[in-house]
Amino acid sequence: MAEFDVDLFVIGAGSGGVRTARIAAGYGAKVMIAEEFRIGGTCVIRGCVPKKLYVYASRFKDEFEDAAGFGWDLPGEPTFDWSKLVDAKEKEITRLSGLYRKGLDSAGVSVVECRAEVEGPNEVRLADGRLVRAKYILVAVGGAPVRVPAVPGVEHAITSNEIFDLNAFPKSLFVVGGGYIAVEFASIFARLGAQVTMAIRADNVLRGFDEDVRNALRDAMVHAGVKFHFGASPTSFEKKPGGLRVQLSNGESLVAEQALVATGRDPHTRGLGLEKAGVVLARNGAVKVDKMSRTNIPSVFAVGDVTDHVNLTPVAIREGHTLADRLFGGKDVVCDHEHIATGVFTTPEIGTIGLSEEAARQAYKIVDVYKADFRPMRATLSGRQERVLMKLIVDGESDRVLGAHIVGHEAGEMAQLIGIAVRMRATKADFDSTMAVHPTAAEELVTMRTRFARYER
Ligand code: NDP
Repeated sequence: MAEFDVDLFVIGAGSGGVRTARIAAGYGAKVMIAEEFRIGGTCVIRGCVPKKLYVYASRFKDEFEDAAGFGWDLPGEPTFDWSKLVDAKEKEITRLSGLYRKGLDSAGVSVVECRAEVEGPNEVRLADGRLVRAKYILVAVGGAPVRVPAVPGVEHAITSNEIFDLNAFPKSLFVVGGGYIAVEFASIFARLGAQVTMAIRADNVLRGFDEDVRNALRDAMVHAGVKFHFGASPTSFEKKPGGLRVQLSNGESLVAEQALVATGRDPHTRGLGLEKAGVVLARNGAVKVDKMSRTNIPSVFAVGDVTDHVNLTPVAIREGHTLADRLFGGKDVVCDHEHIATGVFTTPEIGTIGLSEEAARQAYKIVDVYKADFRPMRATLSGRQERVLMKLIVDGESDRVLGAHIVGHEAGEMAQLIGIAVRMRATKADFDSTMAVHPTAAEELVTMRTRFARYER
């Protein structure tokens, strides 16, 4: 009898787990993957993918309005049907989940659609009682939203898990938090027609982002009708007919049809049995791993949000892919966590890579800042009060571009491309000698000649 039933057992069929399983199976490994919810994980089922679909939906409002400036006459007021959007989204994520399943099947991965828990360093127990002996175990169970602060009535608030499938479109939405999820949903719902109010315990949105980016997004959201309470948190939620009464720490109160708590996500490891295998967890339940995704137990690995390291889909995918390459492909590769471009899908969108001005000024002796703040061409005929912000952060000694930050239409797309240059350690001189694509907004990135400021310490 073989020592192990499988070479690799993956717990969690989200982005990281599925990629690892498929690549490992492609190298000839015998792989089993378990999923207790829906194949695809947070990103496909209740994260990035449905969120982006809702972002597209929300942007049509501006498109309809802008069209008039370009000669279009749209008879009547366009109307929006929430339930049609929810149904269309559901169809699409079901299709994608099916594609994930198909990919696993055709790679020869054995899929079990039930909960799996760790029994020991090489043993996994399935919900149907079966025990599977695995040479390696990969924990890729992701995270789940946390409902904090734990104030009276917070259980009446929804999280990003529920918001996609609300039975009715809320005319008013209260949002707690100022991170990715909070600003993205505030932006979506404001444009779809809800009155959105946010309570953020800090003095601005998106802690850790470049200050100019934070200010630009805040101002644009105010312009779009979002009401902010900075330095404030909810102290209670009370159920009322037709919604919730929310009391805030700044003494104000409001009534909203729905309240969204977007105050972060915790690793989903409770009851997973990792302690039984001796795996060391952080206080919030995150699986502690090194840069090779290794836990303290040689046969157990973890990738993605469950490690609470960099909670982004492409990071989970890359971590999983490199892990499979190392374990089964004989490749000596490590996931690069240094240069991670990211987008925040608000309207306007944010695209960013590398250091903020503030972080660069902490780490480098001389920092040069280049900035462009302009009205995009499209806004000339539409008449929309819209600005684009572009900012390059440069090491004044080596001329290397340390960070690039964009707020405006398709900023995420631009960040993906500029990310290559920044990762390749391009200098400002490289940017300057790159020919512009005209007329685009992105050409500003290669035509910013005048330094906005130099900081020396
Ligand atoms: P974030 O950590 O980004 O933001 C959490 C927010 O909640 C912060 O504003 C935080 O404030 C606030 N907060 C935390 N605890 C409390 C509390 N007790 N009371 C009041 N406010 C509180 O988490 P999200 O839930 O927005 O997103 C989770 C992760 O998912 C992100 O980190 C990101 O990696 C990922 N994600 C990425 C997306 C993308 O790439 N576009 C989209 C969505 C999610 P403070 O800043 O003061 O700590």
